Amino acid sequence: MSDKIGVYICSGCGLGDALDIQGLAHVATSEYSVPVCRQNPVLCSKEGVDSIRQDIADGAVDAVVIAACSPRVMTDVFSFPEDQVLERVNLREQVAWSHAPQDEDTLMMAEDHLRMGIVRARESTPPDPFTVEDLSKTILVVGGGLAGMTAAREAARAGYEVVLVEKEEQLGGYAKQVFKLPPHLPPYESPHPFDLQQQIETLSTMENLKIYTGAQVSQVTGAPCMFDVHIMHGGNEVQERAGAIVLTSGSVPYAAEKLSHLGFGGHADVITAPQLEEMFRTDAVKRPSSEAPVQSVAFILCAGSRDPEHLPYCSAACCVEALKQARYFKEAHPESVVYIFYRDIRAHGTYELLYKQLQKDGAFFVRGTVTGIEDDGSGQLILSADDVLTGSPIMTEPVDLVVLSTGMVPTTAFGKAFMAQSPQEGEEAPIPVDTIRVSNILNLQYRQGPELPTLKYGFPDSHFICFPYESRRTGIFPAGTVRAPMDYAAAMTDATGAALKAIQCVEMIPEGKALHPRSGDLSYPEFFMQRCTQCKRCTEECPFGAINEDEKANPLPNPTRCRRCGVCMGACPERIISFKNYSVGMIGNVIKSMHVPDEYEEKPRILVLACENDAYPALDMAGIRKLKYNAWLRTISMRCLGSINLIWIADALSKGIDGILLLGCRHGDDYQCHFIKGSELADIRMSKIQETLNRLVLESERVRVEQVSIADYTQLPRILDAFADRLQELGPNPYKGF
Ligand code: SF4
Ligand code: SF4
Repeated sequence: MSDKIGVYICSGCGLGDALDIQGLAHVATSEYSVPVCRQNPVLCSKEGVDSIRQDIADGAVDAVVIAACSPRVMTDVFSFPEDQVLERVNLREQVAWSHAPQDEDTLMMAEDHLRMGIVRARESTPPDPFTVEDLSKTILVVGGGLAGMTAAREAARAGYEVVLVEKEEQLGGYAKQVFKLPPHLPPYESPHPFDLQQQIETLSTMENLKIYTGAQVSQVTGAPCMFDVHIMHGGNEVQERAGAIVLTSGSVPYAAEKLSHLGFGGHADVITAPQLEEMFRTDAVKRPSSEAPVQSVAFILCAGSRDPEHLPYCSAACCVEALKQARYFKEAHPESVVYIFYRDIRAHGTYELLYKQLQKDGAFFVRGTVTGIEDDGSGQLILSADDVLTGSPIMTEPVDLVVLSTGMVPTTAFGKAFMAQSPQEGEEAPIPVDTIRVSNILNLQYRQGPELPTLKYGFPDSHFICFPYESRRTGIFPAGTVRAPMDYAAAMTDATGAALKAIQCVEMIPEGKALHPRSGDLSYPEFFMQRCTQCKRCTEECPFGAINEDEKANPLPNPTRCRRCGVCMGACPERIISFKNYSVGMIGNVIKSMHVPDEYEEKPRILVLACENDAYPALDMAGIRKLKYNAWLRTISMRCLGSINLIWIADALSKGIDGILLLGCRHGDDYQCHFIKGSELADIRMSKIQETLNRLVLESERVRVEQVSIADYTQLPRILDAFADRLQELGPNPYKGF
C-alpha cells in the first residue's frame, strides 16, 4: 500500500486541448490528497521525466501515477527504480483521442480514469521477486536429430552448458537416412550433399556440451532453472540439473500400411519417400520386385496428408522432398521419366527454383487425384488419375516405381488426446485414433500429467503467431517437426529460435522475471493458505501446470513455472491468491472508485474489463486512428480474462454500474488467448454469473463477453456503441444508489 503518491499530468499530444487539466489536478489533490501533483506540457521530455526522478530521489513519492499516454508506449522513458510503484493512466489513446474534446462525458471519463489509476497505485506494493539459490542455467536438449543437434550447438556456442539426450546410439535422427538435402544455396536447383559426420564431430569437440546417446529421459521433476532430469543411460540412471528444456524429438513418417488405396502393400514397387531416400543413400536404386533399374517413376504427393481419413493437415515438407528426389533421377539419368501427382506444389521461397528446374528437366506435373494403380501385366504400374486442370481422366505410361510422399506424425501425439475429440461443424476431422502413436518422452512429474499438452493434431505447439516455441509448460520449448510439420531448413531455424528462448528462460528466471507474454514481470501469486479449502480449482485451472498438490490437496505453487496470468486468482472461490500489484481487493477498490451518477442524470456507466494482450491494445489502436466511441465506458486492464473474479462483477452491479463488458482474446483450438484458456474460462464463469443475474432479476444482457483480436480495432467502436445502446434500452441498473 503506497501513501506517497505523485500524480504527473501531461497536457501534450492534444490532452491539454481535449481535457480539463486543472480539473484533473483538482481530483488528485482534493479527493485523494496526493502529496505531489504536477502538470507538464510534455511530460515525456527530459525536463518532465527529471521532475519525477527528482521527487523520487527526494523521497517525496513512492508511487508514480503518469496521466498521459498508453502504458504500452514510452516504457523506456517512464522507467523508474523497481522499488517504485508505477501506474500509467491512459488519457491519450483511450480518452482524448477517442472522444469529443471538452465534452462533459469526456471530462468525466478522464476524471474516472485518473481516480482508478490513483487507487490502483495506492493499493500496489513493489513486487518482491522470487529468487532462490542453486538455479541452473544448463540447457537440456531432448532428441539428437538435425533440430536437436542445431539447438545444442547454438546454445553451446552462446556459452551455455548443454546436455543432449538421444535415444539412438548415434546422433542424427532421421538425417541418418538422408542422402542429400533440398537446395539451400544458389542457384537452388540441385540437392546438396550433407555431411552428418562432420556435424557430429563438431558437437563432440564442444567442451560445454555433454552428449548421452542410447539414452532416454526417465523423469523430469521440478521447474524451470530447477529441473532435475533423470536419464537412463547404459543401464544406469544419471541425474542432471537443467534450467530449460528444448524438445526436439521429431516426428515419425505416417504409417504407409494404411495407404493400401495407393497400392502400398499390394505392389512391391510402391514404396515410400523414406524408402527411396535410403535406396539413394546406399546407392541401391532398383525395383524391389525385380531388382531391375528404375527408368520411370511416379511420385504421389499428399499421400495420407490433407486427408480426413488419415492426416488432416499438410505435412509441409513432402512436396519439396519429392521435388528433391525427382531431381535425383533427372540428375543421374536425364532421360528418366518422372511423373509428379500433386494437389498444390507447396514449394515456397527458393524451392520455387527447384520446381522450375524440374519443369525444365521435363518432369510431368499432374494436378490431380490418383484413382488407381494397376499392374500392366508385365510388372510395371499404370496410374490413373483425375486431372484437375484439364478436367479429364488420365493414365500414365507404365512406370517402374511409385513413390508415396508420406506425411509426418509428431512423436508427442497421444491417442487419448484424440479419442474425446469429435469434429465440430466446419472443423477438420481429427486424426483417427489408431494413426497416433503413444509417446512418453519427458515423463514430467507434474500434477497435470507427464507430457506436454498438445494443440491440434498432437503437436505441442503454442500459438503459432504470438509465441512460437512456447509450450504449455514453462521452460520447455518444442522445436522442429515435433512442434509443427516442417522441412530440414525450417527445423534448423526453429531449433535456433528455441535455443534462444531457452537462453531467455535461464537468464530471466534467476532474476525472478516472468517469461513471455508478461516478460520481465517480477510479481508472482501468493497464497494465504490458512483459508484454503483444498478445492483444487487453482491446480486444475492453471494453464501452465504451475501448481502441484500435496496429498491433502493443498496447492504447492512452483513460482518459476508461473507465467503471472492470474487465472488462479480468478479461479479461487476463497479469494486468497493475490499478487503484490494485482489482487481481487485492489481491482474491487478500483471499480469502487468510479463515480456512478444517479439514474436521473441519465449517464449510464459501463465497466470494461479488457485483456492487456489484445483487447486493450485494440482500444489503443482505435484511439490512434481517432475512432470515436461511447464515453460512458471505464476500462480496466486485466492480465487475462481468466483472472477475473466473479466478485468484481457482483460488486460493480451492486454499485449501480449499468453494464459490464469483458473483452478478451479468441479461444478455441487455434487459440489466440495468450494464457491458453483464460478467455474460455472467463466465458464459462460468466455463464454462472448470468444465472445469478437472472435470480436477481437483473437482465442477463448487462454482462457481455466479446472475443477480439488486436486486428479488430476498427470494429471495436461498433461493439462498444452497440452495447451502450442496448443498456440504454434496458434502462438504469435498479441497484443504482443502494
Ligand atoms: S494460473 Fe497463472 S498466475 Fe496462477 S500459478 Fe498458474 S501461471 Fe501462475
Ligand atoms: S482455489 Fe483457492 S481455496 Fe481452492 S485449492 Fe486453490 S488456493 Fe485453495
